[in-house]
Amino acid sequence: MSRFYITTPIYYINAEPHLGHAYSTMVADAVARAHRLLGDDVFFLTGTDEHGQKVERAAQKAGMPPNRFADVVAAKFRDLLPSLHASNDDFIRTTEPRHHASVQALWRRVRDRGHIYKGEYAGWYCTVDEVFVPETQLVDRRCPICGNAVERIAEESYFFRLSAFQQPLLDHYRRHPDFVTPTVRRNEMMTFLEAGLDDLSISRTSFTWGIPVPDDPAHVMYVWFDALTNYMTAAGFGSDDAASQQRFARYWPADVHLIGKEIVRQHAIYWPAFLLAADLPLPRQIVSHGWWLMDGAKMSKSKGNVARPRDYIERFGLDALRYFVFREMVFGQDANFADEAILTRYNADLANDFGNLVSRATTMIHRACGGRVPAPVASLLGRPDEQRLQEKVARLIAQVRDAVTVFQLSSALRDIWEVIADTNRYIVVREPWKLAKAADRQDELATSLYVAADTLRVIAELLRPFMPATAERTLTMLGVTAEAASWATLAPGTLVAGTHLGDTSPLFPRIEQTVEELRLMSNENSNPPTVPDAVPASPPAPPPAVAAAPAAAATGTITIDDFMKVELRIARVLAAERVPKSKKLLKLQVDTGADQRTIVAGIAEAYEPEALVGRTIVVVANLQPAKLMGVESNGMVLAGSIDGGPPVLVGFDRDMPPGARVR
Ligand SMILES: [Zn+2]
Repeated sequence: MSRFYITTPIYYINAEPHLGHAYSTMVADAVARAHRLLGDDVFFLTGTDEHGQKVERAAQKAGMPPNRFADVVAAKFRDLLPSLHASNDDFIRTTEPRHHASVQALWRRVRDRGHIYKGEYAGWYCTVDEVFVPETQLVDRRCPICGNAVERIAEESYFFRLSAFQQPLLDHYRRHPDFVTPTVRRNEMMTFLEAGLDDLSISRTSFTWGIPVPDDPAHVMYVWFDALTNYMTAAGFGSDDAASQQRFARYWPADVHLIGKEIVRQHAIYWPAFLLAADLPLPRQIVSHGWWLMDGAKMSKSKGNVARPRDYIERFGLDALRYFVFREMVFGQDANFADEAILTRYNADLANDFGNLVSRATTMIHRACGGRVPAPVASLLGRPDEQRLQEKVARLIAQVRDAVTVFQLSSALRDIWEVIADTNRYIVVREPWKLAKAADRQDELATSLYVAADTLRVIAELLRPFMPATAERTLTMLGVTAEAASWATLAPGTLVAGTHLGDTSPLFPRIEQTVEELRLMSNENSNPPTVPDAVPASPPAPPPAVAAAPAAAATGTITIDDFMKVELRIARVLAAERVPKSKKLLKLQVDTGADQRTIVAGIAEAYEPEALVGRTIVVVANLQPAKLMGVESNGMVLAGSIDGGPPVLVGFDRDMPPGARVR
């Protein structure tokens, strides 16, 4: 059994997890699962990167000591993993004692071999990316990577003799052409190497939130020296006990460091240089993926265009999200993340092509064959249509196996969906619903339904790494309850005739709502609008001078005029009921003083409808109507909530009549 060690980047905890993080994890997960199906001994690692000045500052801002802050944010990354079905074998935090020991051990090895010296560093430093930016690369005194202002730093610092590793690295790149993939990244790194390398400052005295330098605790390690070492720590490096040392011997070097394209240089140049300096084996491959764009721009917290994985899991289900991101991003390139595209793929690929095929085939076997996989007739299996489909299935197994192991998830899914389309066509050609009615054609019926079920069984086994839950459900419907079949022995024609099918249930019920409706539903659900803290008691101040308006927009504030555009009014609830099939929505009939109208509110998990009747609430009275789960809503109910918690309706400390304006 060969072993396969794959890592995700460890996620920096200065921001909360978004789709970009989830994507890296899901890709590594799919590849890890595929290797397990191929019989490899897989070690799949993910975790969090928790040191550095940025975290120290973020903690300060949050009013917490950095270790407490790190605990809180790291937990958010760890807690996301089960909801992504991540099958990681370990979760590492760089604040763990095992990691301190490992990084210090690496430092000593590098130092004792003469590759670390003390000097003074003066340069421009970007605290956002945690990198020094050479003067020549500054853009308007700003960081060329993130665009933020850089800081001048001059301090005593330890240096790593990176310059000494230019030639050894170039040699390594030439001997191992697939060390960095895709090729475009490899070429960038070769160019960078050929230009020559400066020594690298690897310690700081300007902050304390880091791992102390051995024998000189006034210095903490530069965050990349610390962070990159996590990949060895989790494999057992730096530990004295025999079991860890054995584990390190088994799993190091890693087979794949999967990363985003913005951190290739650290992984493909600094990291192998540190390892060369320490006489340790280099990882086999650095694989980088592109960025998810929203409206053409990289998703990032500072731009505010961040997709939260939980929203999409809630709207479409996890497997639909996994399918979409694997299918849509051609590996190595950037891809657009758009709600419309997910909805289209959901309804077309998942609900229509695949979901309908599974329910059609299994329902027919239930009706026409007593719920047992029928036995095919050999001579009928030899017909061209059957032969062609089975040959395609055999080819598909090899294609998917080859594609997944080189991270071509998109082409693997494209190939699988091609065979799904072939199977749909096969059923249309054979017309089993007609055969079922002809007593003298039962052999043909049995053969066609066997071929359909057998093909679906192979497809489900191939879908396991991509959509684990969907694969399981499909196989259960087909009556296959055994352990995952090995991809090494998977073949068409091996479904056992006579197998009792499980119950048929829809895999991907069609979504009838529009993207706008879905968005409104989840906005109402997870982000109930909050009312301004202070409500001015006096009439509004006169509008500020005209010239102030653009400045106000630039700082993210709004003018009093902007605020007054929102017509907040007191209303009374006349009637309330649940919206059918929705856990979160209530349909309210309200009296706004001026009219009676229907408003749909996402408060059903916090309020019983009966308890609301007669209650005074605050509504946005001039909101454009919107349809939610088929009900037209004419306004919005104000409620507050703590961090996505249950909504609490806004109220008054004395009785107020409907119609009064709130401001
Ligand atoms: Zn920057």
